[in-house]
Order: sequence, then structure tokens, then C-alpha cells
Amino acid sequence: MVCFCFLVDQTRKVRRSKPAAGICSRCGGGASVADMKTCTRFCYVPFYWKSWRAIMCTFCGAVLKSYH
Ligand SMILES: [Zn+2]
Repeated sequence: MVCFCFLVDQTRKVRRSKPAAGICSRCGGGASVADMKTCTRFCYVPFYWKSWRAIMCTFCGAVLKSYH
């Protein structure tokens, strides 16, 4: 099932975000509350979506906290 790995990919999109209290532990940048959408694709055809909310860094994009 080696080729399976090459056919499946995941894209992560930020649908909207707004500033939040807190700073990034990695780079010290500002944090924001973001509504995320993760899309899993198989052979470039989306077959699974997941919406979730996370606190993430606006500067480096690190996810500081997530709410699933
Ligand atoms: Zn950061």
C-alpha cells in the first residue's frame, strides 16, 4: 500500500480569523482564533471535510490550541 500515501493529501484552510489574547510560544507572534477547515483528498478528489476551531499564530502559523 505504498502508493496509497502518494494519492492521499490533506489541505488546511483558514476560513476566517480574529485576533485573540496570547502569544505564540514558538516565535512570540500574535495569536488569533481561526475557524479551520481540513479537507482530505484522494486522487485530488475531496472525500472528507472537517471544520474545527483553533488558536493559531498569525506570524508562523503554528497551532497553539485546537478545539475539536
Ligand atoms: Zn508563531
